[in-house]
Amino acid sequence: MKNLVEKYNVPGPRYTSYPTVPFWKNNALNVDAWMTTINRNHAEFNSGDMSLYIHLPYCESLCTFCGCHKRITKNHAVEEPYIDAVIKEWQHYTSRIEFSPTIKELHFGGGTPTFFQADELIRLVKSIFNAESIDPKESELSFEAHPNNTTDEHLQKLHTFGFRRLSLGIQDYSPTVQQAINRIQPFEDVKKVHDKAREIGYKSISHDLVFGLPKQRIGDIIDTVEKTLTLRPDRIALYSYAHVPWIKGNGQRGYDETDLPQDSEKRALYERAKIMLESEGYIEIGMDHFALEHDELAIAFKAKNLHRNFMGYTTQNTKFLLGLGMSAISDSWFGFAQNEKNTEAYIKQVNEGIIPIFRGHLLSDVDLEIRQYILDLMCHFETILAEEESVPSLHDGIKSRLQGLLKDDLIKIEGRKITVTEKGIPFVRNCCMAFDQDLADSKERKNMFSKTI
Ligand code: SF4
Repeated sequence: MKNLVEKYNVPGPRYTSYPTVPFWKNNALNVDAWMTTINRNHAEFNSGDMSLYIHLPYCESLCTFCGCHKRITKNHAVEEPYIDAVIKEWQHYTSRIEFSPTIKELHFGGGTPTFFQADELIRLVKSIFNAESIDPKESELSFEAHPNNTTDEHLQKLHTFGFRRLSLGIQDYSPTVQQAINRIQPFEDVKKVHDKAREIGYKSISHDLVFGLPKQRIGDIIDTVEKTLTLRPDRIALYSYAHVPWIKGNGQRGYDETDLPQDSEKRALYERAKIMLESEGYIEIGMDHFALEHDELAIAFKAKNLHRNFMGYTTQNTKFLLGLGMSAISDSWFGFAQNEKNTEAYIKQVNEGIIPIFRGHLLSDVDLEIRQYILDLMCHFETILAEEESVPSLHDGIKSRLQGLLKDDLIKIEGRKITVTEKGIPFVRNCCMAFDQDLADSKERKNMFSKTI
């Protein structure tokens, strides 16, 4: 494993989309062209089902490992105008979408959604759904909860509206690591929020852990997983820390490169956690996720219904994800679009009646073919090459780039079927890279992506 990690730990995408963001071609995507892709989605799939992601960007303090689009402030006067803008953005879309959408899932991400008062969040969802509450069987509602500012009122009011899932940002319980990443949250505080959520009736609680953090050692991950197991969350995400200081600037430069576990030392943190989680009944799902057998993520993985989009893994296989809020990314299957990343500019544009996208990509036939292969690999660890390729030599190119992985027993090729082996699972991002025509055509990869392991 050590040699393989050293060989394959190269910069590469996490594949929440294909083409990946650095290869999007439309720096000034036209709104009409974007709306056409949404209406095409409805026409081709004969479905109005959609997922909604709402980005709530404010945080009270900066965690130095963070790669999210956020604004740090303690001024809560920002809440109301921001929520007003998100509601308006939704109205801009509903007035232009030529069908009646059904929201199958909604997720509050951030930033820190629980920075906002419970009443502001409820005002937002009531306006979106035009309803006082939602049947959780009809629509899956979830939110990211920061253990330091999630109140009983948040948990109660969101549950009453119809929310049944939440994910708690944990990272690591070691005081040394918490200090290095400027995020102090003792286990007792997390337990209080977790227990309250269970008592209220949330049916799926996820804990988000991170491996590869500065100053994190094997003893820290063991202790963090042991503590996590005492609460038995339904899902556990074990994300690889993405070190991208050229994107995030000083926020991630608050510690030294030498503080970061590297290559096989970093991978060992994941492998140790995996052994501990699997021995307690958790099933490894796709890349860096675990779930108990009863959880819908595990059920979807076994049934090969798992889907992946900008929100990560999801059980709702909608082919239209609308992202609202500053920096949010949308995916209409035939196109991607990203919103303005400056909060004030986002609010201003929405208030002027503009759909605030600033860049995107319209997918070609070859993009669509490759995106399906990569999605299959990320969700099910296998894919089947189409009988007819969308451009000549596409399959030959993929097969030739797969040869190294084949020699290392990381994949199997049987006719048109390509399967990631058990040994190859840690390297699934590398397998996807063999399918990635943009990467194959590009010479420059440095400072584009974090490393794959
Ligand atoms: S990790 Fe979460 S709470 Fe911390 S700065 Fe990033 S978005 Fe904000």
